[in-house]
Amino acid sequence: MADAPDLSTPDPTVRELLATRPQLSLDPTCGLMMEGVPLSAVADEIGTPTWGISASTLRIRARRLLTAMTGAGLSVSVHFAVKSNDHLAVLRILASEGLGADVVSGGELLRALEAGVPASKIVFSGVGKSDAELRLAIQKGVAQINVESAEELEIISALAVEAGRVVDVALRVNPDVDAETHAKITTGLADNKFGVPYDEALALYLRAAALPGVRPVGYAAHIGSQILKADPYRAAYARVAQLVRATREAGAVVSVVDCGGGLGIGYRDEGEGSPEAFAGAIRAELGDLDVRLAIEPGRWISGPSGVLLSTVILRKAVTGGAPFIVLDAAMNDLLRPSLYDAWHGVLPLSPHDAVQEPEKAHLVGPVCESGDCFARDRMLPPLQRGARVAFLDAGAYGSVMSSTYNARPLAAQVLVEGERWAVIRPRQTVEALWANETTPGWLNGDA
Ligand SMILES: *Cc1c(COP(=O)(O)O)cnc(C)c1O
Repeated sequence: MADAPDLSTPDPTVRELLATRPQLSLDPTCGLMMEGVPLSAVADEIGTPTWGISASTLRIRARRLLTAMTGAGLSVSVHFAVKSNDHLAVLRILASEGLGADVVSGGELLRALEAGVPASKIVFSGVGKSDAELRLAIQKGVAQINVESAEELEIISALAVEAGRVVDVALRVNPDVDAETHAKITTGLADNKFGVPYDEALALYLRAAALPGVRPVGYAAHIGSQILKADPYRAAYARVAQLVRATREAGAVVSVVDCGGGLGIGYRDEGEGSPEAFAGAIRAELGDLDVRLAIEPGRWISGPSGVLLSTVILRKAVTGGAPFIVLDAAMNDLLRPSLYDAWHGVLPLSPHDAVQEPEKAHLVGPVCESGDCFARDRMLPPLQRGARVAFLDAGAYGSVMSSTYNARPLAAQVLVEGERWAVIRPRQTVEALWANETTPGWLNGDA
């Protein structure tokens, strides 16, 4: 199932989009609500574009994953994939629910620590960790570093010896299974850059066991993102289980299997990945190995928790065709439609707009790129100049991928919980865009 869903079916209606998103509702007078907060009130007060995050949704989804794992009789530590949404408030909420973190850079490591995630619950992944990042991770005492190549293993060993430490490492294996997702977010095929080739993993594990400064504790596998079915997980975990057995037969200790993340969500009408089916796949293939289990979900927790609010700048008529609805949000805010052909649901904030008969329209941003398009030929209630909309399921790979292209300041962010809301990042000022820029003296006419 690709991230770009089957577009041959009719676009979901306002009512259908709301039905599968309990954190959102349509109030006849206040319009679109996130939890107990009218989103129009947020937009009125701080303008748009603005990201909104539902704290309760983060909590509910984190708990639902934990419950699915315990329900399958599994003891699994959950490491939230920080790259999907790295805001300190998000990390703090998930830390308070008992989650650890999966980080892919030194910056994410420091963010997780700043948010109160203990180093003992942080796993460091990534195909190219710099020496400085590895030194930081070793010094902070992260729970585990996931090693992605033979070359990296040697580097970690040397840096750990230099620091006088021994670090737990897991080998990220590339199980060479097709996650059946979008080509840009599949990571477990042999020709992807990620992980150690399956056939070389055992030898590398034994090599790690002989190296100073590192202690191999197990294997990790992360096969891709936006995975909706359990089959690719089962196929990957079956391969990992085989590897664990072979490694033990070779006389090495294996005590950890990190099952990765990638569980998908329902952006359109594809239905979301089931935590219970995910847990079932883990249990079926890895349940009797007597290893400590971990997962690294990102999108499944953060995606549905977020929206991006935007205002219609103008409605550009097209003779004989659908109008262009030009928004004040753009690809520099929400990149996924441009980058992955992603489909995001769109709901009007006004209770009046929400009930109008839909029409076909193109939703675009103002950035000077043809790719700055959120939706083509989308059936939506008619949107006039000044109308406001929410892009749904924008909590994962949304704000974190924003740029300031076209000198557009980073959008504001708010957190909603119950009837409360707070700005958790003010809108960036235009002046902040060049605050750290200097022009060398010779350009200013100095000597
Ligand atoms: C991106 C990533 C994840 C999370 O992926 P989601 O699809 O957001 O669940 C987990 N583990 C690793 C190693 C990753 O790179």
